[in-house]
Amino acid sequence: VMFGKVKACNLTVAPERCANECNLVLLGATGSGKSALIVKFLTKRFISEYDPRLEDIYSSEEMVDQQPVVLRVMDTYDQDGPVNTERYVSWASAFIVVYSIENQDSFKVCHKYLDTLSLHKKTCEVPIVLLGNKLDLERYRQVSKSTGEELALRFGCLFYEISACLDFHDVQQIFHEAVRRVRLR
Ligand code: GDP
Ligand code: MG
Repeated sequence: VMFGKVKACNLTVAPERCANECNLVLLGATGSGKSALIVKFLTKRFISEYDPRLEDIYSSEEMVDQQPVVLRVMDTYDQDGPVNTERYVSWASAFIVVYSIENQDSFKVCHKYLDTLSLHKKTCEVPIVLLGNKLDLERYRQVSKSTGEELALRFGCLFYEISACLDFHDVQQIFHEAVRRVRLR
C-alpha cells in the first residue's frame, strides 16, 4: 500500500494528482491583517472586525491553472512573535508571512518569523511569501517597498504588497501563487 503512494505519483498518475493538496499557514503580528486576508480570499468580502485570538484551519476547493487543489489555510495568533512553531511547521506546505506597510513593528515581527522558519531544516523547501498588507493606507506607509523586497530576497521569499480591502482577485492571486510554488517543488 505504501508502494502505491510513491510509485503511483512518479509513474502512473498525472502530476496534478500528486499535488492536489496544499496547507498554507499565515503568520505575522497581530493586526497585520491575516484574518482579513483569509476572509477576503474565502468570501470575497472584507470583514473589518475579527477576533484576533481565533486560530482555525479553513478548507477550500480551488482551481489553480485549471487544476483542482484542496487548499487548507491556517489562521494563527501569536501574542509575541514566533512561539510554539511546532503546531504548524511540519503541517505547512507553504507560508505567507504578513506585515502592514503602515506599521514598522509588524515588519520587524516578520523578520523574526523568517529567522525562526529558516532554522527549521524542512522549511528550506517550503515556499514562503512575504506580504506587505494594507496597501490602501499608502499615505501612512512606514515600510518602503524596497525594504520589503530586500528582506524577501535575503530569505528567498516571494514578495507582494496587497490590500485586504481592495481587489479580490489580487488577494486570490497570492494564495494561488503559493499553490503554484508548492507544485513546483
Ligand atoms: P490579524 O490580527 O493579523 O488577523 O489582523 P486582522 O485581520 O484582524 O486585521 C487587523 C485590523 O486591520 C482590522 O481592524 C482590519 O479591519 C484591519 N485591516 C486588515 N487588512 C486591512 C487592509 O488591507 N487595509 C486596511 N485599511 N485595514 C485592514
Ligand atoms: Mg487574526
